[in-house]
Amino acid sequence: MTKYYFCTVIERGTDIQKAAELLRGGACVAIPTETVYGLAAHAFDTEAVASVFRIKERPSFDPLILHIASQEQLAALVTDFPEKARILAGAFWPGPLTLVLPKSSTVPYNVTSGLETVGIRIPDHPLTLQLLWELNFPLAAPSANPFGYVSPTTAQHVVDSLGEKVPYVLDGGPCTRGIESTIVGFEDGEPVIYRLGSLPVQEIEKQVGKVRISVNQSSNPVAPGQVKMHYAPLVPLLNLPLEEALKTYRPEELAVLVFGESPEAVPSQNRVFLSAKGDLYEAARNLFGALRQLDTLPVKAALFSYVNNEGIGAAINDRLRRAAARHS
Ligand code: AMP
Ligand code: MG
Repeated sequence: MTKYYFCTVIERGTDIQKAAELLRGGACVAIPTETVYGLAAHAFDTEAVASVFRIKERPSFDPLILHIASQEQLAALVTDFPEKARILAGAFWPGPLTLVLPKSSTVPYNVTSGLETVGIRIPDHPLTLQLLWELNFPLAAPSANPFGYVSPTTAQHVVDSLGEKVPYVLDGGPCTRGIESTIVGFEDGEPVIYRLGSLPVQEIEKQVGKVRISVNQSSNPVAPGQVKMHYAPLVPLLNLPLEEALKTYRPEELAVLVFGESPEAVPSQNRVFLSAKGDLYEAARNLFGALRQLDTLPVKAALFSYVNNEGIGAAINDRLRRAAARHS
């Protein structure tokens, strides 16, 4: 078996066999999912997992999610599968739902950052599902971005921000959901939402009744997607009305994230679209690409408004709030 210690040349393509060979040999590979691109490693190879943390400059307290091909693989990875977890897995897998369950001894502690629980999901992307079926081990994969920066939703985003640190990007096109998975843990068998994500809370509640949401902003969170500043572009993101911002900035110094009506006072090249027709799913798909685009514009600040908090809107607002937190 080849051991890949150094990741020097980034390459992208749709070669599943190549991705599988690299992963078996202990290298990292960026993989497409319906939510965002992941930086994947052989979950049982602690050196490979350690390299994911190194490449992302991710703090060791921030656990990784295990990606599996089918529910049959769960038995070896967890020691308990509560009834409501079973219902949710049945309803939403493959899909943007991560279940946090008590881990078995098979799962290394460097995947879970020392926790006794492990986050697991079956991603809904044809290339990655095919890859997972090829492998006889789960993939540990957080989002494929430098820690704290905006998550990648295209292969190009991965290339842009991880440069030459990953040998292969499996290119599955733009992510169809665009926001990370919803994370659900269980306390006394009852579901608790630890991170808002692509699967709306209302969808979960249709299956298992009212759920508690525990999405706090502490710096030592249960789910580190909860840290206050996260998913942040470098340009200051301001939740200000345009008229207010124009008291401080000239129009050409401003960018605007557009949802619905386009602000004519700002130069057209500085208007970055979430959704011209005010569609929440389109806005979710475009959000991280839009935040990255802001960082390419010669502006001093970018304005945004919160969207309707219904359905996927709640996750969009959560990401906007954290993206803006760097400067608030
Ligand atoms: P990312 O894929 O980059 O969004 O990172 C994975 C996220 O999954 C982490 O930041 C945590 O929020 C969450 N996570 C993974 N494992 C656990 C766990 N055992 N308990 C709580 N949250 C987890
Ligand atoms: Mg992440």
